Order: sequence, then structure tokens, then C-alpha cells
Amino acid sequence: NTLNFSGGPGALPDVVLNQVQQAIINVPEVGLSILGISHRSAWFENVVRETENNIRTLLGLPADYHILFLQGGATQQFSMVPMTMLRGKKHPAEYFDTGYWSRKVITEAMREGPVRVIWSGEKEGYRRLPTDEELDFSPDAPYIHYVSNETVEGLQFDRVLGRDDVPRVCDMSSDFLSKPCDAGKFSLIYAHAQKNIGPAGVTIVLVRDSVVQNGPTNLPAFLDYRRQVEAHSNLNTPPVFAIYVVMLVTRWLLNDIGGLENMARINQQKSVLLYSTIDNSNGFYHNWGDAAFRSDMNAAFTLPTPELEDKFLHEAELAGFSGLTGHRAIGGIRASIYNALTLGAVEKLSNFMDDFRFKQHG
Ligand code: PLP
Repeated sequence: NTLNFSGGPGALPDVVLNQVQQAIINVPEVGLSILGISHRSAWFENVVRETENNIRTLLGLPADYHILFLQGGATQQFSMVPMTMLRGKKHPAEYFDTGYWSRKVITEAMREGPVRVIWSGEKEGYRRLPTDEELDFSPDAPYIHYVSNETVEGLQFDRVLGRDDVPRVCDMSSDFLSKPCDAGKFSLIYAHAQKNIGPAGVTIVLVRDSVVQNGPTNLPAFLDYRRQVEAHSNLNTPPVFAIYVVMLVTRWLLNDIGGLENMARINQQKSVLLYSTIDNSNGFYHNWGDAAFRSDMNAAFTLPTPELEDKFLHEAELAGFSGLTGHRAIGGIRASIYNALTLGAVEKLSNFMDDFRFKQHG
């Protein structure tokens, strides 16, 4: 089988794919294909309930949070968050500009209200993240927003930012459920599914009840967290299939992996191996970001010349590695090692990288 190192839709666990195959033909409890089961059925109600409970258990989520399964991707959250929390506010929300996705978030927020960019990595080409000494948070901000893992540049925060008296909002699309997370420190967390926990089509939002209650009352229903909460993520036809797969993945995380601490340990073994291959290559492989901030999920790196990069990608494809082309915004190579990609798969990539390098030196 081809190994999926893509930074876009990521790999899913084999056990889950096997269950999905069966469900596409027939879900025994219902006697129908998953693709034809009603979103109003009792069966689907249970799917939503179990998925919510699994996420609550995995994260130890406090009781005053709602879990929503929404559509529109993480991109829709770029707007829904400021529509709810920034419209009509006098003081600016504080946004981090740490990479490709942050920039998109900021553009959307500025349509809704005042924004202050509290730190920007633009001048340095988005190769590092800020240290605490560089940050000066205002107590008046309606909230702060950051992206916990910049998927394109491969930069990941290893700490919670901000101050406890200002709400935190975080885009965790590319590292959600990859490690434990102190979710109770955030007012709102959003993550689309297509990295670690399912196929595209569903976006998970964890939102504190007070945020929902304090939001404006004149938003379109679809963009209104309050209406989505009232409808239990069933305001219009939800992506039944995508939510079902998320349920299977959260079961896998709980029962097969044994929780997020175990998941984090495995993910770290994978990234340590990959980065040691880069670091021990005498500069042949060059990491995009500063080593102190590099991500356990996406390793972005370059080779000495664009020609060598093309050759690397070509040979990697032939050797059974898919999705290694870097994001179009920065080029180079990107190896994404989301939850379902095994340590064995990363070992294969690491051996391939060593072999490729030795061959170039004759
Ligand atoms: N945020 C991050 C961190 C991402 O990596 C992506 C896409 O890869 C997005 C947001 C956009 O997500 P979507 O395509 O689901 O709108």
C-alpha cells in the first residue's frame, strides 16, 4: 500500500477503514448503507452522542462546553468566531500572524471588527514562533486567537498562550486529538476533521456556554452557535458519513491507542525519528523552521536544489510514498505524520531519505 504523508486529508487507521468499508455496504443495526441512513434516525442520534462523549473523555472536557459538528470547514470558523465574539466591540481582538493559515484567519476577522496583530513572523519568513518575552497581551481584548499548529510551515506551539482573564480561541485543525490539551483554558476550539480524525466535511467546535449565550441574536441560523447548539448539530442535513468516521476514530483513540497521552508518545517517536534524519544529514535536508518550534505533525524541509527536490519527489512516489510535495505557498518537501501514520511508515521514509542522500554523493 502507498503510505500517505499528505498534509491535506491525512491517513486514517486501517482498522477504521475496514469498518468504513463494511458500513458503506451495510450497517447491520439499520440494514442500510451508511451513505443512505437518515440524519433524523435514532441510530444517527447515538452516533452523535457517542462521538461527543468520546471527545469529552479523551480531552477531559469540562461540563460547560458544547461540542458541535459543523460544516464549512475551518474556514467558516475564521468568520463565525469574530461574528460571535468581535462584532460591535471597541477593543481589538488579538491575533497571531504565525504563518499561512494565520494570515487567512486575520483577513476574515478584519471584516467583522477591530483586530490587533500581536506578533507577526512575516518579516522572518514564518520560520519561528514567538517566545513569551515578545508578547504583551492586553487585558481589554475580547479574545486572543492563534493557530496551534501551522500546517504549511510546520511550526507548532508547545504551550498555551495568553492570559486567563481574556478568552482564548484556537484553530487546532492540524493537531487536534494528537496529544492531550488543556481544553478548559480555551473559550473556543475549532478543528476540521481531515487531518487526524476523519474525512473532510465536518468541523468540530468546542465552545464554552457563556460564549454561546453572549453572542449576537441576529446572525443567520447556520452561522449562529446558539442555533447549532439548540439543534444538536442537526440544524440542516449534517455530514452523517464524516461524523460516523470521526466516531470510529475516537473509538480507536480510546480503545486501541489508549488515550491521548499514548497518542502523543507515539507521535513524538515519529517526529524525533524524522527530525533526526534531517538533522543528521550534514545539511542535505534543511528544516524550514527553527528547531525549537517545529511541529510533531508536519515536517517542512528543503533539499540543496529544486532539481534534487523534484528527483526526491519522483523517486519517493515510485517507492510508495504519497503526498510529500510541500505546500504551494512555500514549496520544498513536507512530510505530514498525523495520528494514523505508523512509526513503521516513518521508519520507511527515514530509510528512504538516508538512501536517497547517500546515492547523490555517489
Ligand atoms: N486551519 C488550518 C491550520 C489548516 O491546516 C487548514 C487547512 O489545511 C485550514 C484551517 C482550512 O481548513 P478548511 O479547508 O477545512 O476550511
